[in-house]
Amino acid sequence: AGPLVTSRSTSIAAKKGLLIRNRTPFESAWKVDRVVFDKTGTLTEGNFGVTDVHPNKGANEEELLKLAYSVETQSDHPIAKGIVKEGKERGLELYEVKDYQNLTGKGLVAQVNGAEIAVVSPGTMRANHISFDEETYNKLAAQGKTVVFVLKDNELQGMIALADIIRESSYHVIKALNERGIETVMMTGDNSRVANYVGEKLGLSKVIAEVLPHEKSNNVKQLKQGGKKVAMIGDGINDAPALAEADLGIAIGAGTDVAIETADVVLVNSNPVDILNIIKLSKASSRKMV
Ligand code: ADP
Ligand code: MG
Repeated sequence: AGPLVTSRSTSIAAKKGLLIRNRTPFESAWKVDRVVFDKTGTLTEGNFGVTDVHPNKGANEEELLKLAYSVETQSDHPIAKGIVKEGKERGLELYEVKDYQNLTGKGLVAQVNGAEIAVVSPGTMRANHISFDEETYNKLAAQGKTVVFVLKDNELQGMIALADIIRESSYHVIKALNERGIETVMMTGDNSRVANYVGEKLGLSKVIAEVLPHEKSNNVKQLKQGGKKVAMIGDGINDAPALAEADLGIAIGAGTDVAIETADVVLVNSNPVDILNIIKLSKASSRKMV
């Protein structure tokens, strides 16, 4: 095929909001057997809002939020943004924060007023054998909420629940892929209850939860076993190695630079439904090429 065909399909793709960075994987998109989706910021909007605050006995709600708000100003994780928004809306005072450390895929830790303040996931609580009110946690998780725990010198101060919204278009893309016999997989660092909640709502074929950032690409490798063609779609720094490992890596346009630079195709409109256009266009352009 001549360059005319290539430039024509590229401009059609551009009109559909697809930025093609690597043509060869794009043209094979119609062969995909499995599509792996990141959850936060991909299937969901990635805009967390605080819904519930549960201080532990002896702790108070405002103090709990002040601590979380102060340390989360240092992070740009969607959870951090949700907690910071809440702190601002309540007009809370900020403490001085020192020695901030990001615990990738687990939470974060910093020094506030001479104490060590950590905000962490349920998985991190379990790994460190710190007990919490399972009943309250289960109730929140069953509502599809993401729960984080606030610790002061390793003592639990309370939990904060946040909710994100599933994108309207996620329902359509999952249904369309399932109907075509393409397996739909969600892979997330969030806890398995929230992940299963979203997975059931959307009708995903498979849910892989509590995945640490360094495990994401290995999971994609496993999903490729048996010669399966795997596409991965994500937005975060965490997703970049998995995007590179996939046969076709797709980044959400509003995502992080690292994800965009690693992807084969970028969804300019940040809408996961556009993967359907990738599959359709790849078939059309590969037919013209033969
Ligand atoms: P995802 O795969 O959904 O993008 P991450 O791997 O970034 O998730 O994070 C996994 C989990 O780690 C989160 O669900 C949360 O429990 C915890 N976590 C990550 N960053 C933060 C943060 N800034 N504050 C509190 N908890 C966090
Ligand atoms: Mg994400």
